[in-house]
Amino acid sequence: MKPEQIETIMELGAKGSAFGEMGDTLFTSSFFIHGHICGGMPLGYRAGLAALKALGAERELNMAKLVVVETGTGHAAGCFADGAQMATGCTFGKGLIKRSEYGKWAINLIEKASHKAVRVSVLPEVMQASFASPFVQMRHKGVAPTEVPLDVSKPLVENLLAKQDEDLFTMSEVFDYPLPEAPEANFNLVVCKSCGEVVAENKAHLKDGKALCLPCSGYRA
Ligand SMILES: [Zn+2]
Ligand SMILES: [Zn+2]
Repeated sequence: MKPEQIETIMELGAKGSAFGEMGDTLFTSSFFIHGHICGGMPLGYRAGLAALKALGAERELNMAKLVVVETGTGHAAGCFADGAQMATGCTFGKGLIKRSEYGKWAINLIEKASHKAVRVSVLPEVMQASFASPFVQMRHKGVAPTEVPLDVSKPLVENLLAKQDEDLFTMSEVFDYPLPEAPEANFNLVVCKSCGEVVAENKAHLKDGKALCLPCSGYRA
């Protein structure tokens, strides 16, 4: 990463102190984890914060919440999902974020135990302005995000940070989001009889009476 990009991330990240305890550290980290300065990640971050606030919930440290992000893939602003993930703490590794293929800039934040949820959706004019911005125009011409000049990308973030939630989002009322009954977490390991690698017991497969991992079994996922 170029030194001037690191410096700009530190400067923008410090503004995250407005987002409460550890806000600056988390917002700064989000840029580093995301990899570049863009408008999508901070917008998703703000959406995640707004959803937590609407649900009266704290950032998820354990496994109690779930995010369904509606962005899908194959378009210019998938970065939004990274911001939502980092603000809510509903991370990929914890299995707490799912992506629907709607191609919409909205997230649903769900409390698993109560099924209580809120949906936060970016206002159309915000997305339209974002797609008309010089940043997205340059991306359209094939310029990588890290190659977009900082005097183009930085104001995009500053502008977002200066806005109130109601200037950015439509918020739903709290609603009930049905979830299938989750099986209990499995704590048993099996060693695959073919490759010798360890596999979670609930993902092992029997073939000719032997416990195998999925690839060795030849079965389809
Ligand atoms: Zn991005
Ligand atoms: Zn195997």
